[in-house]
Amino acid sequence: MKLEIVQAGNPVLRQRARPLSVAEIRSREIQKLIESMQSCMRETPGVGLAAPQLGLGLQLAVIEDREEYHKDVSAALLRERERHPVPFHVLVNPALEELGDERAEFFEGCLSLSGFSALVSRARTVRVTCLDDHGQEKVIEASGWYARILQHEIDHLNGTLYIDRMRARSFTTMENLAEFWKGKPVNEIKSELELKTS
Ligand code: ZN
Repeated sequence: MKLEIVQAGNPVLRQRARPLSVAEIRSREIQKLIESMQSCMRETPGVGLAAPQLGLGLQLAVIEDREEYHKDVSAALLRERERHPVPFHVLVNPALEELGDERAEFFEGCLSLSGFSALVSRARTVRVTCLDDHGQEKVIEASGWYARILQHEIDHLNGTLYIDRMRARSFTTMENLAEFWKGKPVNEIKSELELKTS
C-alpha cells in the first residue's frame, strides 16, 4: 500500500477520528495498514504518524524515535529536550492525561505542515491509556520528548494541529529555523520575538 501524507487544509485533519473495535484492530486490513504506516513513517522519516494524516479518520497512530535519528543532534539538545530512543509501537483509541504542572516549550514540526515549525508548549509528563496492535489495553507514562510526540499524535486523532497550540509569532520555515533560531535557548528566542519570557 502506497501511502501519501495529506497536508493542512484537508478536512480529515480537522475531524475527530472514530475508535476501532478489538476485532477491527486484529483484522488483516488494519494489520496491513499498521505495517504500511510503519514503513511510511520510516521512509519520510518521522517519529510519529496518525491515520488522519493518511486521509483515514481512525483512532490509530504509530510512534518510533530511532537512535539513528539522534546522531545529527547535539548531546546538549538531546538532554535539553529529554529525548531518548522509543521503540516502534501502536496507539489505538488513546486517552491522554497530563501529569503535574510542568511544561516544556520547544520547536515542533508536523508532516502535514511540511516545511514549517513553531514553538509549542506541552505538558512535560503524560499518562496515556490505549489499546496496542493486538487490542490489549496498555498504559504509558512518558516524560520529555516522548511525551511531546504522544501529545502531538493524539491531537491528530482529535482534529487538532500544533498550529492551534503554537506561539504564533515563532512560526517559521524550516530553512529560517536552521538559519536564525536553531541552538538558541528558548527564553532568548522568546525575548527576541518580543514574547513574554516565563
Ligand atoms: Zn503531525
